[in-house]
Parts: sequence; C-alpha cells; structure tokens
Amino acid sequence: MTSHIMPTYGRLAVTFERGEGAWLWDSENKRYLDALSGIAVCSLGHAHPAVHKALCEQSQKLLHTSNIYRIGVQEQLADQLTALSGMDNVFFSNSGAEANEAAIKLARKYGYGLGIDQPAIIVMEKSFHGRTLATLSATGNAKIQQGFAPLVEGFIRVPYNDVGAVADAISQHNNIVAILVEPIQGEGGVNIPAPDYLNQLRALCDQHHLLLMLDEIQTGIGRTGQFLAYQHNRILPDVCTLAKALGNGVPIGACLARGKAAEVLTAGSHGSTFGGNPLACSAALAVLATLEADGLIAAATRKGDAICAGFSARLQGQPHIVDIRHKGMMIGIELDSPCAELVGQALQAGLLINVTNERTIRLLPPLIMDEAQIQLLVDTLSPLILAFTAQL
Ligand SMILES: *Cc1c(COP(=O)(O)O)cnc(C)c1O
Repeated sequence: MTSHIMPTYGRLAVTFERGEGAWLWDSENKRYLDALSGIAVCSLGHAHPAVHKALCEQSQKLLHTSNIYRIGVQEQLADQLTALSGMDNVFFSNSGAEANEAAIKLARKYGYGLGIDQPAIIVMEKSFHGRTLATLSATGNAKIQQGFAPLVEGFIRVPYNDVGAVADAISQHNNIVAILVEPIQGEGGVNIPAPDYLNQLRALCDQHHLLLMLDEIQTGIGRTGQFLAYQHNRILPDVCTLAKALGNGVPIGACLARGKAAEVLTAGSHGSTFGGNPLACSAALAVLATLEADGLIAAATRKGDAICAGFSARLQGQPHIVDIRHKGMMIGIELDSPCAELVGQALQAGLLINVTNERTIRLLPPLIMDEAQIQLLVDTLSPLILAFTAQL
C-alpha cells in the first residue's frame, strides 16, 4: 500500500483516521490511547477545537502572502514568544531542523563578526538536531550520519552532561563560537542532565563569549512543566529553537535570539518562503492561548509525576528495570535490554508508545491527558513491560 512512499521510515501497520483529545481511531475503528503525541507534537491532543477554529478562521482570510510584506499574526506570535521566553526576536521556519539551521548560521556569522574565520560549535554525544546536512552533522548518532559524508564541518563533539569536557574543548580550540545542546536529550534516550548543567554551560559561555544555543524542539512549549526547559534553571540562552508542539501538528519552527545574538541575522542573510505564514502562526497563537487558559504547563508537572509514581509502584525494583525518569511529561523507562518489540505489543493493546536508544521506553503524552487516561496508560503498559522482562 505504501510502495510509492520512499521507505525512510519503518512504519507500523496501522492507519489512523481520526482523533479526539488523547484518543485515536484507526481504519478498522479500533481505539488507541496516544501516549506519544506524534512525538511531542500534539500536546493539546487531536482535533483540538481552539486550533480547529483558528485554522478555519485564518483560512477564510489568508493562507500566505510572503515575508517580503509584514504579517500581523507573525508579529503577534513573535511578541508572545519573546514575552514568554525572555528572548528578543524570532526567525520563523517550518520545522525543527530548519530552526536549528538558522541557529547554526547565526552562530557562524556571530563568529565572523568577532574575526573568527573557521567558527566551530560544541555539540554533544547522543544529541539529535535534525536530518538536514548541517543538523545531521551536529547530531551525535553515527546511524543518522551513515552514507551522507562529507559532513558539514565545524562541530566539536563532547559527552553530554559533562561540563569538564566542554571546558577542555574550549581551552583546546580558539575558534569556538557556540554550544548547541538539548536541555534533556529526547531521541538520545530521555537523558536528563545534572540539575545545574545548563547553569554551568551558561557560566562557561559568559566567560568565553560563546553563544549558548538550546535546542528546545522537544522539551519546549510546556512539555517539562515550564514553558521552556531552561526556565527550570532560571537562566536565559542566547539562542533557542522550537518546533514540534508549537503548532500542535501544523508545521512551524522558530529560532529565538537575545542580546548580541539577536542582531546577527540581518536583511538578506536568511529567509524562508513559508516560514511564519499566517496559517501556521494562527495555529501557534491558539496553542499558546490554550496552554495558558487551561493551565496545562503547571498540569504537566502534576500529571508527569502521577504517571511516574504509577510506573514506579508497579516496576521499581523489578528485574531488568534500570531507571524510571521524567521531567514533567517527558518520560523514560529504561530497561537493561533492547525492547523495541514493546511498541508493537502496546499497539495491539491499544496504546501508542515509543522506544528510543534501543532500551528506553519513551512516553510523551498529550498535556491534556486526564486522570482516567493516566490510569489506563499505567494499567496497560506495566503488565506488558513485566511480561516482556520476565522472558528476558
Ligand atoms: C524532532 C527534533 C528535531 C528535528 O525537528 P524536525 O521538525 O523533524 O526537523 C531537532 N531537535 C530535536 C531535539 C528534536 O526532538
């Protein structure tokens, strides 16, 4: 059936036809509980009325004009994003990878401004930043880079959650202009660093005049219990990238900059035909309004804690369970063995989950998930995990 689709994804044999909140229905009308949100995208759940209304109303007026004109809803969205983040300005793109491309270009141009003619960016092992050439070069995963050499130069890789390694890299190179890092690694296995990791990176950047660039594409927009994950640390980055949940399924990305970094990209230095178009921006405005009106960001902490307490009660101390960790509704259950089969078993049981870094069950439930659904998630997945680990 998908023979005319390039096989870039190993797809599960299910086609969803419609959704409502945390529920999805497939072409056989079987119902599923969505604990993945299309990988941290549909945080308001499916078919959210506020997003639906914004898209209908905007599409009756205008879908697209061009960034060679002013765009009212884009300016409104930039006002709200900068107010919520403490940043100064925004470049809008259509995806996460493109937001990171903007950040990488910004860092290089910032370096040229300082007289550094081979600027380099520190990136992390096990990181994920996207699939374009520059972003896959920044990504710390050999599988993602395999077959695409020559890679884009100018990235220096160090272990994640290791401030000393960053300090060493800075002292060994005189051309470093920025650090690009995820506040929590998503694709890399829901890796949560030491509580003061970002604060220490901020201090190193201040000391050496480097840009701290946070990839909040997965952690942002309320996922971890703050609008942005760096707000747990009470710091500000120089650059921050967003995408995934910003449009609740409508493609939109953003590269936010502050201070000196906000002055780097000038007229003619970057662009996008679709980036920040009226349709995508009105969806994002509806997302921000709903997060606020429904108190969903504070709820993410409460609900994430409840989900993990449920799993801990069932799984903690059981054989083969290495760790149950979370920040808000970004949740990882790490086993000591590869466990990709659990994805298909959960699907059979009417539950959507994901396994990342081979051994870590990743849950990214919609922030609107209710108590009964949280209970169902724990009650459905725990026995599957216990049955799976029992036969290891
Ligand atoms: C998903 C993701 C990206 C890439 O976003 P795309 O929209 O797929 O290009 C980049 N960084 C992080 C941390 C992500 O989770």
